[in-house]
Amino acid sequence: MKDPFISILNQKFNTDVMPRPEQSIWRRLATEYESHIVQESQRHFTAARVGINQCMRCGLCCYQYPCIPRPEEIEPIAKYLGLTILELINNYMVIDTADCKTYFLRWAKHREEDIIGKMIPPARTFDREYCIFYDKENKHCLIHPVRPQEAKIVKCWRANSGNDRSCWGITAWNSDHILYFLPDFSPHILEDNKYVPPKSSMLPSKY
Ligand code: SF4
Ligand code: SF4
Repeated sequence: MKDPFISILNQKFNTDVMPRPEQSIWRRLATEYESHIVQESQRHFTAARVGINQCMRCGLCCYQYPCIPRPEEIEPIAKYLGLTILELINNYMVIDTADCKTYFLRWAKHREEDIIGKMIPPARTFDREYCIFYDKENKHCLIHPVRPQEAKIVKCWRANSGNDRSCWGITAWNSDHILYFLPDFSPHILEDNKYVPPKSSMLPSKY
């Protein structure tokens, strides 16, 4: 059975806008990651696998692809953690894009310390780790009370779980939002082939 989350991941990214050599690399990585997730699903006791209608906090969905907060969800999460928005970005987030036009912020994964606060290179989209907020030892989300809406709609025991695009965090971002958070962000970093700009030094505007 094809994993629904991988289908969602594939729908999120438009490879047509990538340079051709990157397209083939990206597709190969996506295929490898899909196989990897099938293996991972065997070692996670998901609610769907166990056959109950309740989240088992197994973390598989937090491993497959960290959720994307909507722009208006970022400030409340920063406040919950006692951080400024810039501290939240520079300690827990990466900049990503699906179409090289609209850039958004999402959670980094564990072991992505080298790119936190920066643009994620396409090849790192498939890093094999949990979301940075997933507590692997205690199996829970460290921002559970304020977790993004996208996380709340994932119920793996339900058919078509998470397929409603209007609930995806990515759909709430427009091309101006990234500049609210990172006023010195350059939208030309992909064209310049500079995937890792320096961390932002400017304070975010009030969203
Ligand atoms: S919703 Fe996610 S964390 Fe909960 S049981 Fe299903 S895959 Fe695991
Ligand atoms: S923010 Fe929480 S719910 Fe969302 S992917 Fe990370 S650990 Fe999972």
